[in-house]
Amino acid sequence: MGHVHVLSDELVNRIAAGEVIERPASVVKELVENSLDAGSRMIIVDLEAGGRRLVRVADDGQGMGEDDALLALERHATSKLVRPEDLERIETLGFRGEALPSIAAVSRFELTTAFDPGAGGVRVVVEGGRIMAVNPVARPRGTSVSVGDLFFNVPARRKFLRSVETELRHITQGLEAAALSAPDVGFRLSHGSRVLLELPAAPDRLRRLQDLGGRRLAAPPRPFEERRGELSVEGLVAPGPGSGSPRLLVAVNGRPVKDRLLTAAVRRPLRGAGETLGGGWLVLWVELPHDAVDVNVHPAKAEVRFARSGAVFAAVEAAVRKGLRVLHGEVPVRRFGLMGPEHADVEGDARPAAPGAASLFHHPVYGQVEEPPASWGDRQALDVVAGLGHTEDKRPTSGARQQAADTPFGRLIGQYRASFLLLDSRDGLLIVDQHVAHERVLFDRFLERMERGQPVSQGLLEPRLVELTPSEAEGFAAARPVLQGMGVEADVFGETTARITALPPELDSQEGEELVREVLEKVTDLGPEACDSGRILHEELAAALACRAAIKVNHPLTREEQVHLLRDLAATRDPYRCPHGRPIVLTLRQEEMERRLGRQ
Ligand code: ADP
Ligand code: MG
Repeated sequence: MGHVHVLSDELVNRIAAGEVIERPASVVKELVENSLDAGSRMIIVDLEAGGRRLVRVADDGQGMGEDDALLALERHATSKLVRPEDLERIETLGFRGEALPSIAAVSRFELTTAFDPGAGGVRVVVEGGRIMAVNPVARPRGTSVSVGDLFFNVPARRKFLRSVETELRHITQGLEAAALSAPDVGFRLSHGSRVLLELPAAPDRLRRLQDLGGRRLAAPPRPFEERRGELSVEGLVAPGPGSGSPRLLVAVNGRPVKDRLLTAAVRRPLRGAGETLGGGWLVLWVELPHDAVDVNVHPAKAEVRFARSGAVFAAVEAAVRKGLRVLHGEVPVRRFGLMGPEHADVEGDARPAAPGAASLFHHPVYGQVEEPPASWGDRQALDVVAGLGHTEDKRPTSGARQQAADTPFGRLIGQYRASFLLLDSRDGLLIVDQHVAHERVLFDRFLERMERGQPVSQGLLEPRLVELTPSEAEGFAAARPVLQGMGVEADVFGETTARITALPPELDSQEGEELVREVLEKVTDLGPEACDSGRILHEELAAALACRAAIKVNHPLTREEQVHLLRDLAATRDPYRCPHGRPIVLTLRQEEMERRLGRQ
């Protein structure tokens, strides 16, 4: 008598359900995917008690005949794959043939469907995986699946369900993602008698996002894209109100995914940009040949694997950077209120200027700058500000506007409260945050040096001694080459004392000490092996350097220094955003000024 036996279908389906169906939102996701695969034009989702009591998804897709309806409930029954090669290029959302039997195994389930309404439809009732009834019904073409009492026979799972609000949030977010990937399909989601989403079929994604965001969008979504050979990334970015965190959605070949690689690629350029995105949206559609991506890596199909993940990562990151650039040409003027006198006072109190740093030209950074091109007042200058979205038809310019621009951004008016530079530009009044601007300039410079492997450093007259914690001291050996790559020479003597002997000329020894501590902290966090594996990114290090070395607010600058800074800023890769994603330039348009002053 052996002990090994093959599991019954009922058990197998319940086990599969454990992977595929985690909560009501997974049911909605699977059923909606089926409806989309069936070519539906309208999908209606009804819920009760956050989907625990009922999830019903009805569509007007192609429907099924009776035989197919019964077969669809069998495990590994699908119409979407035939040959093994098909698995290499999956173009449908479903392909595993698991969803219906899994859901039916853990709920009171009912499927009604009609393929040819003339021939009548069928209703199949299943309870906990057992077919209870199969009846003919009359119904229009399409399919409707009701899932009642989810997990009624899996008490352990049922316990893990969260509050109605939480489950509803998961469902809504999943449906929003599906809706953004299929703008031409209408969706309606209701909970009891309350309609949560009402999305008519839309001509394009932009319109769909507008319908979704509704009044929560602070400005219309702006499109951006990045194409690299067969790989394309299209996106929409829309700022929302407040300072919430933006919704990020990524779809790969029409499939919304939660992929760690992609999320990292999106987040990196986004770090800190939440400030301008507020509770807005950032949506990306990645398209690449079907055989360059493996969607069969996760039972719930939420993750994908790329044949060339580095290329995808780079393209997505570049796309997001573009998107942010597009967006903050349009920093909402509302934000001007933030910079009112009260706020400026707070800033004014913030930090006194570093002693001995009265002139920016004494700052070693400026000893090394080449002369900028001569004719900034002309076309070239205008190209730089094009990012701010100016249009060709301009209202008559005022006298001041006709004066020559002395910086790439426009004519410099001067410095405000030793912290902001004011400019008269074609787009209106520009306000530049001098600290962030300088940070941007330095970031580009440090990054370039690091990428070329040519750090610049200058010996300190007197070495700086830094007392380390034991764990910092332990990570020191691993961090040392990283520091060297940044232009920092340091060693440890005794048990826990580090000695900094050389720094990039832009940093004083206090800033150098802070930097060494920050790098050690990173190494402690990530583990010493991170240092060789390149997991500590040049960008991060350059940002840490730049942040330390940049001039602070409340630091008077001569006019010459101001012009110099602005010219340097214009020459950076992204003059409108600091490496952490904070905006650098704020625009107050003339029209807005006039409107607010009651002139229009
Ligand atoms: P998969 O989607 O992976 O094929 P499912 O278990 O989700 O597996 O569905 C099984 C099959 O049932 C599908 O391949 C499809 O042929 C059919 N089906 C499911 N839902 C619908 C629907 N809403 N409309 C038409 N056919 C459907
Ligand atoms: Mg399916």
